[in-house]
Amino acid sequence: MQNPLGSAGKLIKLSKSSISQAEKSAVMGVLDRGMFGMGAEVQKFEDALSQYFGRNVVCVVNGTAALQLALEAAGIGVGDEVLVPSLTYVASFQAISAAGATPVPCDVFEDTLTLNTADLASRLTEKTKAVMPVHYAGNPGDLDAIYLFAEKYKLRVIEDAAHAFGSSYKSKRIGSYGDTACFSFDGIKNITSGEGGCIVSADEVLLEKIRDLRLLGVKNDTQNRYSGRRTWEFDVTEQGWRYHMSNIMAAIGIEQLKRSENLAHKRQELAKRYHSNLSCQKGVRLLQASYAHQVPHIFPIILGENLDRETIREFLYGHEIETGIHYKPNHLLTKFQLKSHDLPVTNRIYKRLLTLPLHPDLNFDEIDYISKSLILAIETNG
Ligand SMILES: *Cc1c(COP(=O)(O)O)cnc(C)c1O
Repeated sequence: MQNPLGSAGKLIKLSKSSISQAEKSAVMGVLDRGMFGMGAEVQKFEDALSQYFGRNVVCVVNGTAALQLALEAAGIGVGDEVLVPSLTYVASFQAISAAGATPVPCDVFEDTLTLNTADLASRLTEKTKAVMPVHYAGNPGDLDAIYLFAEKYKLRVIEDAAHAFGSSYKSKRIGSYGDTACFSFDGIKNITSGEGGCIVSADEVLLEKIRDLRLLGVKNDTQNRYSGRRTWEFDVTEQGWRYHMSNIMAAIGIEQLKRSENLAHKRQELAKRYHSNLSCQKGVRLLQASYAHQVPHIFPIILGENLDRETIREFLYGHEIETGIHYKPNHLLTKFQLKSHDLPVTNRIYKRLLTLPLHPDLNFDEIDYISKSLILAIETNG
């Protein structure tokens, strides 16, 4: 079996950004104009995103900062608790703790690995102020149930939509409705601005606050920056951060947004190909997904109990295929560890998670090669 990329020792990457000439030219334009900070390009990117979501958008330096600032601006901090799945990137947990609040690890549903709404109530205390669902692999999970729960207990919903740019739920685009959604535009996400992130919200007061917090708390600086000036005489009333987006990043983001439908379509077609190759394969369980609505950011599978994940990973690496693990649960990290590990699905599944390569520059031949190599790995090592 031949790696379709050729036998020149070329690794099939787990994930990567897909960059066209348009992004390169846009960056060169910013470099030529010589204004790299937060200015006209950022405003243009925010306007284009607002058009896309039908809501106002604030761009920041990355997705983690987006989550932290959304919490800060919602007044969630010291003494408060936020419900969040343990099975997420450590960024969700660090953002909550950066805001001063305590992340409370929750379990996930077995079939989608999204927040398990059935046991949310058991994690509720007097201190619970928000719930942060993570749209794992682009799947928003049971979002209606999350919003019903939040409404019942008067909680904010800060969606970690880092995986879900372009996904929709019940025909509505993620970010276009509900409380507040945070996206990441880091290099491997559904669209990228190099690094970057944004907050989309129904709450205008929250967004206005974030506009100040991202600029070191300097009040009303955003409009000046957009017209190429800055504020010299100003007041600061609270802790702020240097979390703004730069023109260089926004220039990339603007071009990626124009390509977003094509990039999403490619991801969906590749994921469907994995499904047709692997859905009946012994030793592999695929997550439930609907690629008419969901833009898959990653392609995680669950290996059979008798298989040793490291052996499979090594075998695939030997076939020039890079794999990943999304994620080591946060309640097993020293900083966030729990005394009672009452997370049965997460604890049962995480050692069997394996993520296969998925990014828009792959083709069907490569997906078929990866699928065949995985099947061979299972047959050889099962
Ligand atoms: C990427 C990611 C983030 C953070 O975004 P950055 O832009 O990398 O800071 C947060 N949560 C999840 C689930 C992510 O995958």
